[in-house]
Order: sequence, then C-alpha cells, then structure tokens
Amino acid sequence: MRGEIRERYGLIFPFVRLIKRGSRLAELLIFPSVCRRCLALLERPDERILCQDCLAGFVPGPPSHCPSCGRFFDGDGAAHLCGGCLRRPPSFSTHRSAARYDGAVKDALLLFKYRGLRPLGRPLAAFLHASIGRFDPPWTGADLFVPVPLHRRRRRERGFNQAEILAVELSRLTGVPVEARVLRKTINVQPQASLRSEERRANIRGAYRAVRPEMVAGKIVVLVDDVFTTGSTLGECARVLAKAGARDVRGVTIAQA
Ligand SMILES: [Zn+2]
Ligand SMILES: [Zn+2]
Repeated sequence: MRGEIRERYGLIFPFVRLIKRGSRLAELLIFPSVCRRCLALLERPDERILCQDCLAGFVPGPPSHCPSCGRFFDGDGAAHLCGGCLRRPPSFSTHRSAARYDGAVKDALLLFKYRGLRPLGRPLAAFLHASIGRFDPPWTGADLFVPVPLHRRRRRERGFNQAEILAVELSRLTGVPVEARVLRKTINVQPQASLRSEERRANIRGAYRAVRPEMVAGKIVVLVDDVFTTGSTLGECARVLAKAGARDVRGVTIAQA
C-alpha cells in the first residue's frame, strides 16, 4: 500500500516543492525582500523595507534640549532655553524632535521622502512616539495635528506629503485627530538648504496661508514635519496659525539637522 502511494505521488511531492521554491523566487523578484538600507535579507514576515537591525539603529536624541525650540544640547545638563530662543522666541510655544538627523534615522527619512517608500511613515512615527511620548509630549491636551503642507506642485511630483503620513500615524497612536486642510503652501519657494537662518526666514515669509481658519480658532495645534533645520518653516506655519486664531501652536519632527 505504502509503496503504491509512493509510486503514485512520489513524482508529485518534489514537483510541489519545486513550485513552492519557484513562487518564493518569484516573490523575491517581484517584492525586493532585502533591507533597502543594508541589503540584509528580510526573513521575518513582519519586516518591510528595513530590517530589524536598521530599525534598532533609530537612536533617540540626547535628553538635554531647549524646551522652546527643542534643539538638542551636547552633554546631559538640565533643560534650559538656548541663546537663540532667549534673543528671539519662536512663534511656536514648544517643539520636540525624536533624534538627530544622522545614521539610520536620516537614511530612513531619505528613503521615505525621496524613494516613495510610504510604509516607512509608520515605524518613524512609532519611533517619535516612543522617544518623546513618555514625558509631557507636545500632543498632551492638543486638539489637532496639522501637517506642514507641500506646495501642490511638489506634492504632485512626490505623490504624497510625508508630513501628512507622519501626522496620520501619530494620530493613530495618540488619538489626537489630524486636519490637513487648514494650511496651504501658496508659494513654491526656492530650496532652503543653501540659505542661512535669516535668509530662510525671509525666503519663506508669506509662503503659507490658513485657508480654513475656523478649524484652528481657539485650538491647541501640533504641527508635524519630518525634519527641523533652522525652524523657519515651523515658525512661519505657527505664525500663520496663531494669526488664524489658534490658542497655542506646538511642533514635532522626526529629526533635527
Ligand atoms: Zn538593514
Ligand atoms: Zn531654543
């Protein structure tokens, strides 16, 4: 009997194995199952885009920071206002980043933003939530998350607004709703990277408009963006929201350069 079964199906089982191996090969060809950062093979079913080692490389920034602009300090002194905020307080009341803009966090943000890898929004937002969520994060008592908008031309090119994806993920984790229709970027300003702090502020002034002021009137609003550089973008958005009637404007970003 056993011999008969083997005879009948003996040829089939290796064939099934071959199909299984073939479909794994097809899967590997269709869905690149290697980490997009370090090229390690992604073996666990819950791994997407980045491997566990790269995700573990998301290192929170140092605890010492300016409570106003959120800029990290070297060393581990108590939180204190930085020189910049003492000279000229920003138009947002507080801002926090999860990390410095380097290493695995920087690589993940670049993949997220410029390679269209939208699912990275989830681990990045989870990292922000875990890094600063434990002690009085800016979303405590907040009414709304508002993502920093892209100009519609830039949004069309990229296909999505990375800040909006981060805001939606943060909303899932905190229960604070997102409102992406409040602000609009009306001027597609020249890239800011080459400009100094003062020039950035002048360059970006008037670039944003509150198109639905009734949505923020009397509210505590948390602006969400991917990277904080000089704070000019966040500052200008906060100024516009405050003018539209927001009671308090705060900010969160994944990383600060
Ligand atoms: Zn990796
Ligand atoms: Zn400061």
